[in-house]
Amino acid sequence: MIPQYASALLISDIHLTPSMPLTAQRFFDFCEKQAPQAESVFILGDLFEYWVGDDAFINSPFQQEVKRALANLATKTKIYYVHGNRDFLIGSTFLKNTGMTLLSDPSVIDIANQKYVIAHGDSLCTADIGYQVFRRWVRKPWLQKLFLKLPLGWRRSIADHLRSNSYTKYQRAASASSQRNRIRTNVTLQACAELLKQHSSNQLIHGHTHLPAHHHEHLGEQAWQRWVLSDWDLDHPESTAPRASALQIDSQGVRYVDLIKA
Ligand code: MN
Repeated sequence: MIPQYASALLISDIHLTPSMPLTAQRFFDFCEKQAPQAESVFILGDLFEYWVGDDAFINSPFQQEVKRALANLATKTKIYYVHGNRDFLIGSTFLKNTGMTLLSDPSVIDIANQKYVIAHGDSLCTADIGYQVFRRWVRKPWLQKLFLKLPLGWRRSIADHLRSNSYTKYQRAASASSQRNRIRTNVTLQACAELLKQHSSNQLIHGHTHLPAHHHEHLGEQAWQRWVLSDWDLDHPESTAPRASALQIDSQGVRYVDLIKA
């Protein structure tokens, strides 16, 4: 069944971690102030900087705080969540505790009588062949089951190791990286066209690339619009301008809401 609402706020790539307290605070404020005003909220992945299993969150004061913010929001509005490439191990315990509903990546949603395809975005980065191989492996259920059986300390050090390699590196300095690297780590026209064709849609919303923009694109006869969600970072003013934004959809159309100014 396609989620259908009159209004929605979409966010992604908050990368919540205790070491980014200003970003976390902006997220908590969003849950209290802006988010309840929409009929539905969609979190398109990478809500957390990393997630090594639902059992870890029981003992994490920070993750408990995030849980409380989401559970409180869930009493006011409907929350949907799509796995990102950093928090794809979020499981049924955390979902149940927060009241979020998991959607598959990709999914189709209907907001104000318009159909949109939503995705985290990493599966569309098909020019990065190494990453796609890595992704296919880590998304195998049997491998995830094995990983989740490892002691927590081991899981944390594996996650640290993966975060420090190029496949999962946080693209904070994406705009400063080389042109070739930017093409490799961006979505491809072919992948977007194919996805939209499969779902008979011409509107795509995703995060992951940290390159927020509204694009009008085409490939051959096929034309579509693509909105990229912003990542959030209020904790590194020395390397990047503070940013936090949401995409708002209602009968007025689609627009970005700057949560730094809000
Ligand atoms: Mn991502």
